[in-house]
Amino acid sequence: MLGATGSVGVSTLDLLDHACREGTAEVEVVALTAGRNVARLAEQALKWKPQLAVIEDESLLPELRSRLNGSNIQAAAGAGAIAEAAGMDAQWVMAAIVGVAGLAPTLAAAKTGAVVALANKESLVCVGPTLMARALAAGGRVVPVDSEHSAIFQVLDQRPEAGRAKVILTASGGPFREWPIEAMADVTPEQAAAHPVWNMGVKISIDSATMMNKALEMIEAAYLFSTPAERIEVLIHPQSIIHSMVEYEDGSTLAQLGVPDMRTPIACAYAWPDRMAWPAPRLDLAAIGQLTFQAPDLERFPALGVARTALALGDGATTAFNAANEAAVAAFLDRRIGFLDIAAAVAETIERMDRAGDLVAGTDGDPVETAMMIDRTARRVATDVFSSVGRMN
Ligand code: NDP
Repeated sequence: MLGATGSVGVSTLDLLDHACREGTAEVEVVALTAGRNVARLAEQALKWKPQLAVIEDESLLPELRSRLNGSNIQAAAGAGAIAEAAGMDAQWVMAAIVGVAGLAPTLAAAKTGAVVALANKESLVCVGPTLMARALAAGGRVVPVDSEHSAIFQVLDQRPEAGRAKVILTASGGPFREWPIEAMADVTPEQAAAHPVWNMGVKISIDSATMMNKALEMIEAAYLFSTPAERIEVLIHPQSIIHSMVEYEDGSTLAQLGVPDMRTPIACAYAWPDRMAWPAPRLDLAAIGQLTFQAPDLERFPALGVARTALALGDGATTAFNAANEAAVAAFLDRRIGFLDIAAAVAETIERMDRAGDLVAGTDGDPVETAMMIDRTARRVATDVFSSVGRMN
């Protein structure tokens, strides 16, 4: 369990706890990792009794040791120890660390041949082709946890690639789906952070409002399902009941539906290729009555077009896309740039880096180091871009 103390990590352990109590699964947790939440990590470790508990922040190791005192659980700290935990012998690994800190551990897990339940978006966006190739070479499998990719995975699973016409990612459209562009220019961080359907953290809620989240999901889908950008479409579906679809060349479109709840895709990733029972909210289509759809407006939500450009330039550009967006969201939350500047700044960062040849530097080296270098450059370039934001407005 990488990122055991986070939202996905806690939901996963809840599901496993339920399955163990019901007698539908026998679970032996090998290792649990966290960033800084030493109290929750220790509590989880004392309950699940893994061989190893790792905290990323090394200054918290004495506290972790003292909290685990008297147990047989080994305590460790630091990014290297997390990557080592990820490489331990396990059948199933939940990769739920947030941010680029998840790259090395997720790649280490993929190398073991385990089934990797993938929540950490950045692994796909920054080193997607390497991750998929490593899992394949080791005889493992990457099973997505994000609800849209889980939907596509469930449709595509065990079906041949031939005959697949396109992948259709659904999107709630966020809180500004119907807003005119003039009003969107004045959106505040508080307005952008309030998501109409999913209850999520601030960064991902802002990404949802700009549709950067969907843009990142396009990149993830391209790498996960070896699908070129031109065969990935986005469809606004405000009810978020259809989680995504696949269209086939014979005219059939297959979809996966469900009540929006992250525990369903987590359960799917855990039990794959079987199904596990848990007290999931059931879909009542008669009560919902209507499902509606509309095409995204690329003028008001340019993030989708920027993601296509990045995909065409390769994984250096998708890494820069992610880093520039993180920097832009932080600048927006600090009120240094406006809401509409976020996508414009990401586009400008990629363009400047492409012109300077900074999107491909060091591609012969270690994929994580290369990605981290591009990530740092993108954050620096994005900061320069923000200083010219007056011009962008
Ligand atoms: P959280 O922020 O809730 O949890 C992140 C986890 O990563 C925590 O265990 C945290 O530890 C740990 N962590 C943070 N920084 C580091 C670090 N530097 N090194 C090691 N571990 C670290 O995130 P979520 O659970 O919401 O999301 C996890 C991933 O899944 C993200 O990439 C997100 O985009 C993706 N995702 C999330 C969804 C959701 O609904 N939440 C949906 C789809 C994808 P600590 O608690 O100690 O800080």
